[in-house]
Amino acid sequence: MGLALGSFLGALTYRLARKESFVKGRSGCPRCGANIKWYDNVPVLSFLLLGGRCRSCHKKISLRDPLIEIVTALGVLGIYLSNLEFPLFLIFILLATISIFVIDLENEIIPDELIFLGLGVTTMALLLGWNGSFYLHFLGGFSSSLFLLLINLITKSKGMGLGDVKYALFAGTFLGFPKSVSWLFLSFLTGASLGVILILLGRARLGKHIPFGPFLAASFLVTAIFGENLVKWLIG
Ligand SMILES: [Zn+2]
Repeated sequence: MGLALGSFLGALTYRLARKESFVKGRSGCPRCGANIKWYDNVPVLSFLLLGGRCRSCHKKISLRDPLIEIVTALGVLGIYLSNLEFPLFLIFILLATISIFVIDLENEIIPDELIFLGLGVTTMALLLGWNGSFYLHFLGGFSSSLFLLLINLITKSKGMGLGDVKYALFAGTFLGFPKSVSWLFLSFLTGASLGVILILLGRARLGKHIPFGPFLAASFLVTAIFGENLVKWLIG
């Protein structure tokens, strides 16, 4: 089921970023345009059986979709095995987060649809009694969003996009205070570290824009799984 959901996300993230319909329409090879037969479209397995190449033009198939499928499947399996309350809600949050990570990495945009759907579903889960204090969750959302908005205003949108500000409302509400603080700390730490590494490797230049959303989304998953203990451990 996780692999199938991952396969859906592969198509959703590709089409949502291009405003294409993801309900109808079959997927084709991006190189030669050949329609992909159902038996060549089985998550991960087809990729392995085809040796990572298109059946008709023999060009290499991108690792993008198998990677999304494997990460989604592992996440869904993790939620299932952890026996948590509200598992369907948590799977939804996982899918939204993976989508935001992929879309921002590839297109430097976080779609409003995903943010407000995520915020709405999280609000509903909180109203239904998921995970304690309603107020600490909203404090988490508003404070993280406000913090990123201040950075957006100070840096005149260069350091932080408005998509990140809106996403923080959703992610911070899910995590709640004080986990939201750990989340932002981890996002800035990983973002800055990778930025320095890329500059040292000559892969990026100072002043070149690196989307911050993927760091927010990845750190969100890590914080959601490990909680604030991770940051306590990091800063000793
Ligand atoms: Zn092809």
